[in-house]
Amino acid sequence: MNLFGHLRAYDYGEVHFKLDKSTGLRAIIAIHDSRLGPALGGCRFIDYESDEAALIDALRLARGMTYKAALAGLAHGGGKSVIIRPKGHFDRVALFRAFGNFIDDLRGHYITAEDSGTGLEDMEVARTVTKYVTGVDPSHGGSGDPSPYTALGVRRGIEACVSYKLHRDSLKGIHVAVQGVGHVGYHLCRELHQAGASLTVADVDPLKAERAHRELSAKVVLLDEIFGVACDVFAPCALGSALNDATIPKLKATIVAGAANNQLAEPRNGDDLHARGILYAPDYAINAGGLVNVAQEVLGYDEQKSRDKTMKIYDTILDIAERSTKLQAPTYRVADIMVEERLAVAGR
Ligand code: NAD
Repeated sequence: MNLFGHLRAYDYGEVHFKLDKSTGLRAIIAIHDSRLGPALGGCRFIDYESDEAALIDALRLARGMTYKAALAGLAHGGGKSVIIRPKGHFDRVALFRAFGNFIDDLRGHYITAEDSGTGLEDMEVARTVTKYVTGVDPSHGGSGDPSPYTALGVRRGIEACVSYKLHRDSLKGIHVAVQGVGHVGYHLCRELHQAGASLTVADVDPLKAERAHRELSAKVVLLDEIFGVACDVFAPCALGSALNDATIPKLKATIVAGAANNQLAEPRNGDDLHARGILYAPDYAINAGGLVNVAQEVLGYDEQKSRDKTMKIYDTILDIAERSTKLQAPTYRVADIMVEERLAVAGR
């Protein structure tokens, strides 16, 4: 493995490795940037085909966290940890306790949270040995489920796009096509429905689509049809890479604004959207509400402060849209430039 080659490619940085023989823990903590504050980011616990794949995942994700936190105005850098899922039997409690000790060794330089494959219970175990854990149970002063905050931020981002692109100051009568009505997608649909928007949805899980139909009067379409719905806003809230060479030509929406991470299959797909005159709300700018909520937990959890900060995603998206027009540059590039400016100032 070309270890330092990978670090250079992702613009690093600092990476910590831990092998704990007694529990079988094999973990990596990637700290991409800490100029704005301690690195914050979740812990993944999944199967990896190789150690290199685990490292690259951590490097890529931690870098994304730097950008998300910086644009949301948080006093945090970007970090991420991965635990390589042991083969065969293992003691999950002992594993997460060992992981907690690993975090504690870094003395607050990295703060963890839930991510794919980890849950509240794992965070509770880690918390028994380190205080550098967020996303713990609300009964312990934790912030709980981040998805309603992510959805709130996405709704605010959609409002900003609708104001900028369609010159409308309300979502009443705006038609939104939502791909994926899971945790965030469902909460988003509720927000939009309450604001008077009409909804079309698609989900691989028919029960989830059916719930949106029953409770929120959403029209349900087939998975492939969601891209070509004649609507004002397309909101990708499922997996990554929804915006690609095959789907972008189908879009009839003038705005793309949703919760999913890594929506652009390739950066050049952001140029394609720009060329087609579609206003794209950069994913890490619009979906930061959950991170804002978790970051509030570090300061001492306050629900109202979380909401107030998440509401400001409106201003961020509006700022990006205005700069994009002024600079004649695609929004995803504008967002990156804004982050790089903030990091440069912090690094002085
Ligand atoms: P989730 O798993 O609860 O929901 C995803 C939904 O998408 C599921 O209902 C799933 O059935 C559906 N789906 C999967 N493939 C699909 C497809 N091809 N077409 C239509 N539907 C499909 O996940 P979530 O927590 O709601 O997160 C959604 C997205 O938002 C993810 O990309 C996630 O990384 C991102 N995100 C989530 C949060 C959060 O607070 N949960 C924060 C930031 C970003």
